[in-house]
Amino acid sequence: MKSTGIVRGIDALGRIVLPKELRTSMHLDTDTKLEIFVDGDSIVLKKHRPAGSCDFCGEVDEASVQFAGYCICPACRRKISAL
Ligand SMILES: [Zn+2]
Repeated sequence: MKSTGIVRGIDALGRIVLPKELRTSMHLDTDTKLEIFVDGDSIVLKKHRPAGSCDFCGEVDEASVQFAGYCICPACRRKISAL
């Protein structure tokens, strides 16, 4: 795990602001859902992905397939096969 060197406080309602540069670099916008994990004394935030969502684009498509540990939707399969 890499430190960003950024320290932020929690407000009275338990909120914390993620720095703009981090939101930009991690492609987090106001529609992004984050899932909260606890690992020992660490709190880890990960982008929430619904079960069955494509590991490349995040779309949920019932025609998605599992390959080498990745869920891949038909659109991404076409893009990959065109490489
Ligand atoms: Zn995809």
